[in-house]
Amino acid sequence: MRYSIASLVANALTGNRNWKPVWREPEPKPAYDVVIVGGGGHGLATAHYLAKEHGITNVAVIDKSYLGSGNVGRNTTIVRSNYLLPENEPFYEWSMKLWEGLEQDLNYNTMVSQRGVLNVFHSDGQRDAFVRRGNAMLLHGADAQLLDREQVRTLVPFIDFDNARFPVRGGLLQPRGGTVRHDAVIWGYARSADTLGVDIIQNCAATGFRIENGRILGVETERGFIGAKTVALSVAGSSGRVAQMAGLRLPVESHALQAFVTEGIKPLLDTVITFGAGHFYCSQSDKGGLVFGGDIEGYNSYAQRGNLPAVEDVAEGGMALMPAIGRLRILRSWAGLLDMSMDGSPIMDHTPVEGLYFNGGWCYGGFKATPAAGWCFAHLIATGQPHPHATAYRFDRFGTGRVIDEKGVGAQPNLH
Ligand SMILES: Cc1cc2nc3c(=O)[nH]c(=O)nc-3n(C[C@H](O)[C@H](O)[C@H](O)COP(=O)(O)OP(=O)(O)OC[C@H]3O[C@@H](n4cnc5c(N)ncnc54)[C@H](O)[C@@H]3O)c2cc1C
Repeated sequence: MRYSIASLVANALTGNRNWKPVWREPEPKPAYDVVIVGGGGHGLATAHYLAKEHGITNVAVIDKSYLGSGNVGRNTTIVRSNYLLPENEPFYEWSMKLWEGLEQDLNYNTMVSQRGVLNVFHSDGQRDAFVRRGNAMLLHGADAQLLDREQVRTLVPFIDFDNARFPVRGGLLQPRGGTVRHDAVIWGYARSADTLGVDIIQNCAATGFRIENGRILGVETERGFIGAKTVALSVAGSSGRVAQMAGLRLPVESHALQAFVTEGIKPLLDTVITFGAGHFYCSQSDKGGLVFGGDIEGYNSYAQRGNLPAVEDVAEGGMALMPAIGRLRILRSWAGLLDMSMDGSPIMDHTPVEGLYFNGGWCYGGFKATPAAGWCFAHLIATGQPHPHATAYRFDRFGTGRVIDEKGVGAQPNLH
């Protein structure tokens, strides 16, 4: 069923009784050409592009829980392409372009809101680094504007410009950045993939892999064995555990990341803002709540919950930038599980097991990557070759030392 003004009016006039389920609930078939493990944003986007761009429709996406139960339904919804390194910027700019056409592509309102992403800076050295990043963005066809202190004031007059430790000197703005409604992204991709013939199988955890003579034969699941010529892993924070079932040890460690939302207030913040002297990022949801987050938990964990030291750290960053938020009540906080790679950049590659592909290590930034990750992973699976925008995201960089250290901080996940 295509969504349109006409279908909206027709259904409204008939008591909204004729809407169809957004995707089917099929039983798993004995075998598929491709089984994607992980029905998050990346897994479903991969299925969508496999079917739509490559005509590969004998595909199943299996998830251990309900769709959207992982990070895709837990993130702070920020999308941007403000990267510095040539291995990253073209990829994220491609993702930005896919976001810009996504609603038409999926025939689904994913609430893409290009309200701008503003990174404020607090020192001359930081300004110089932001100028360099802005220039790299422009060179790759993205948009970037350097704002002085007064220009920042017109956008966000309520931030603390004269904080004694962290005075605000200006900002780097990406006007095309913004937010996208995360749940709608998953539902839109699921609906489209299902319509194109992909089986989406919820509550079906992968429990092992059948591998013979170095080749994948299929996936053992809670609902029995599913044969597959190709198996593609997109399990985000569970990457280490799932890859271990295939005998692989990854250069990835998992950490929880928390997010917070306040009670609803009148419109205050019509852009995304980030604090340059710490780790704090914030936007205002359509319901009026301020949605914000900060650093990952300092210890490795597969538990999808955070702890109080990170709450204190986020609150400190928020109060230093926007002291007025100290008057707000926090309604909810929650956590997701990030797959932190050792250089802060993702991995999208085949594995030593023939027919088994891996997509992960997206750290803090995998939501904005969702369309391009799906596009490039589908390309890799369909053609056996990395997509030109993702050629650098290989495992062997950790062996050769050609790491993609965007922040220049080394193998320290909490700094990525
Ligand atoms: C609090 C928070 C805020 C964030 N904010 C942002 C942001 O503002 N911008 C941004 O770009 N990124 C952000 N991220 C990161 C982003 O959400 C993730 O990088 C991205 O969602 C990961 O890809 P995914 O959507 O496929 O992951 P997920 O949605 O986690 O999908 C992985 C799926 O694999 C399934 N799975 C795991 N094990 C198995 C198994 N054995 N068998 C079957 N299925 C399995 C899980 O159930 C899950 O559904 C944030 C993350 C968190 C936690």
